[in-house]
Amino acid sequence: MINLYANKKKCCGCTACLNICPNNSITMEKDKEGFLYPVIDTESCTSCEACVRVCPFHKKEYKEKIPKDQAVYAMRHTEKSVLKKSTSGGAFTVISDYVLEQGGIVYGAVFNDRFEVVHNKAADKKQRDKMRGSKYVQSDLGTIFKEIKNTLESGKNVLFTGTPCQNDGLKNYLKKEYSGLILCDIACHGVPSPKIWTDYKTYLEEMYHDKVKEVNFRSKDTGWRNSSLKVELTKNIYIKNMQEDPFYILFFSHLILRPSCHECIYANYHRVTDLTLADYWGIEKSNRAFDDDNGVSLVLANTKKGKDLIKAVKNKTEIAESSHDDFYQPIFEAPSKISSKRKIFWEEYINKGKIEVLLKYGRLTPVQWVIKKIAVPVLKKTGLYTFIIKVYFK
Ligand SMILES: Cc1cc2nc3c(=O)[nH]c(=O)nc-3n(C[C@H](O)[C@H](O)[C@H](O)COP(=O)(O)OP(=O)(O)OC[C@H]3O[C@@H](n4cnc5c(N)ncnc54)[C@H](O)[C@@H]3O)c2cc1C
Repeated sequence: MINLYANKKKCCGCTACLNICPNNSITMEKDKEGFLYPVIDTESCTSCEACVRVCPFHKKEYKEKIPKDQAVYAMRHTEKSVLKKSTSGGAFTVISDYVLEQGGIVYGAVFNDRFEVVHNKAADKKQRDKMRGSKYVQSDLGTIFKEIKNTLESGKNVLFTGTPCQNDGLKNYLKKEYSGLILCDIACHGVPSPKIWTDYKTYLEEMYHDKVKEVNFRSKDTGWRNSSLKVELTKNIYIKNMQEDPFYILFFSHLILRPSCHECIYANYHRVTDLTLADYWGIEKSNRAFDDDNGVSLVLANTKKGKDLIKAVKNKTEIAESSHDDFYQPIFEAPSKISSKRKIFWEEYINKGKIEVLLKYGRLTPVQWVIKKIAVPVLKKTGLYTFIIKVYFK
């Protein structure tokens, strides 16, 4: 067995190589951080190099910063109950409703019965509802690209949703355009380690002597801007907001992201999909009427197919045309910076007691506490935050 990748920062784990291998010689194996990487069985490999050619993770060059024909929208689902279960403004539900109503199949990220994050398919709204909500863990795609190809070849329409690198992996794997395929990515500033999530979930279960039954990584019980991790156990409820929950702090401190996320080639306005969904940060300034802190989606329509789909759902949702000057989205400007403490965190985590290390690093320093708990909320309320971020990235 040999590794397919030369450097972990150059492998985003999209599984295009695994899916394309004609000899099934590639498997995805977990490293010490719990991320999946492709390894080749040299016995059955015929050195055809299909796996090398299919890899999407190579820097692309663009002439302009912002593509000229990209359309921008603010979107909000009309039902409060849907907004509550969605991370942003529920654009995913609006778009997937349309695809399902046309007889199509939706692919997206769900929890399995062990609360690991995997990609799955939905042929109806009940199955689709499980895809709602961001899961802050890298999802396991398995061999779903092969299944998607079969679904497309059978003449069914498909909506694929996932991170930009997963979408690009699928695109490269399929090799040709399918008129029935809609690609939809989410803004993604990095995917956390599945191992840390599993260990953290186990810690919560041990602390409460109870079993997890539902997880919401972006509970809006404390507002959209100040969302919380809410874990419902059979007899208890754990809820802590993003400045207090250790998992959230590790995530936002960039200690537990996949190494390739820090060299993400998709951290720009040039999307590889038909539609891109994100939080609409800056809505309080650009369209106050839309903002009641229950969440608003930023939707980028990147292709004609994406724009046609927006036209088709226009009357089913609240939607407003917008522009690139109206929102801010740091991950369209540059990849997330790696933490200077990442190496030491992982050394301690692997070699010493896991939970102690997780709790030690999953705490804000006094300076971070003042910035995150006091300064940022005040700046956000006044609208100055949008201004500062925009100036910073100019
Ligand atoms: C790891 C991660 C990082 C993110 N980073 C940012 C960011 O930097 N800026 C920002 O504005 N928004 C970020 N988001 C949130 C994302 O923008 C919202 O999911 C998106 O706006 C859709 O929200 P919605 O209200 O339309 O629908 P929702 O119902 O919240 O949409 C859920 C959609 O997200 C997909 N999804 C959920 N979890 C995963 C996962 N682990 N891997 C792949 N796909 C997943 C589902 O398949 C579904 O299509 C991130 C989400 C994730 C999972």
